[in-house]
Amino acid sequence: MSKNIDWGKLGFAYMKTDYRYVSYFKDGKWDEGKLVTDDSITLNECACVFQYCQACFEGLKAYTTRDGRIVSFRPDLNASRMAESARRLVMPPFPEDRFVKAVRELVKANKDFVPPFGSGATLYIRPFMIGSNSVIGVKPADEFEFRMFCTPVGPYFKGGAKPIVIRVCDYDRAAPRGTGHIKAGLNYAMSLYAGMEAHAEGFAENMYLDPATRTKVEETGGANFIFITKDGTFVTPKSDSILPSITRRSLMVVAEKYLGMKVEQREVLLSEVPEFAECGLCGTAAVISPVGKIVDHGKEICFPSGMEKMGPWTQKLYDTLTGIQMGQIEGPEGWVDTVIG
Ligand SMILES: *Cc1c(COP(=O)(O)O)cnc(C)c1O
Repeated sequence: MSKNIDWGKLGFAYMKTDYRYVSYFKDGKWDEGKLVTDDSITLNECACVFQYCQACFEGLKAYTTRDGRIVSFRPDLNASRMAESARRLVMPPFPEDRFVKAVRELVKANKDFVPPFGSGATLYIRPFMIGSNSVIGVKPADEFEFRMFCTPVGPYFKGGAKPIVIRVCDYDRAAPRGTGHIKAGLNYAMSLYAGMEAHAEGFAENMYLDPATRTKVEETGGANFIFITKDGTFVTPKSDSILPSITRRSLMVVAEKYLGMKVEQREVLLSEVPEFAECGLCGTAAVISPVGKIVDHGKEICFPSGMEKMGPWTQKLYDTLTGIQMGQIEGPEGWVDTVIG
């Protein structure tokens, strides 16, 4: 039985669900892992995660398809990206095959919280890992906790995606050099101040530039950029200091294979941004947020797609990718992982 939840009223917020998946790493190995009902964690005050922020996370979604199946989208890519994040933070990667199985177990156990097809809502899944034993000298933990919980979330944009206004940010992107590709709270914590300032000035997001030359577009706090040229080419920044978004990687395939667009992943100069016809931010949470305007120290870059709706190419990309996720369009092999079918 589906829970008594008003799916249409959900925002992007945490709601406690019935089960979460937990596995512990101790004496050099991961235990077998299990589902538990307790949503709290008790740790020593000196746990490495509290002192030295040894932690990383992931984010993905499960959906109800039109024909009533429950699926998740490319969980194998979250598994491998989390393993990369863990290695860079001197944590033991959680085995990738077990990660994918844990997603299935977790979603199955909480199936009554998976929003119905057509509601616009989805089940957001948050895997994370922490260094859990006490460490006072600066060194990595040797015990770890891997956890995965889920929470139903509403459509990111109620009543359709309205283009947003963002600003070119003077702060360097939060991620210190070499950690830009790590999905971790340490990078987010350092972006909170810039985000707070942007919001106070009326902007939805920050556009970060490369710290070395401040001429190249990197990404926003939590989403990669996509641009469309006036002749319909899909352009996205290439940089080894931005997070490799799974949504962006998927959109590159959708653009080329489904929409027949030319796709370029290359350095994007801030100076060429005014030449683009459309701009969007992509990530799991919103899929694509259209950007209508970028303000660079008072100088406005207004995209021809305007402030009322998504540009035509952005809309096609959005419709095709969400169509694949919701099972209305056949996706490439292995993109949709059936949890209950
Ligand atoms: C999660 C995240 C993204 C988006 O990645 P998806 O895999 O598409 O959700 C982009 N940038 C940063 C910094 C992120 O943490």
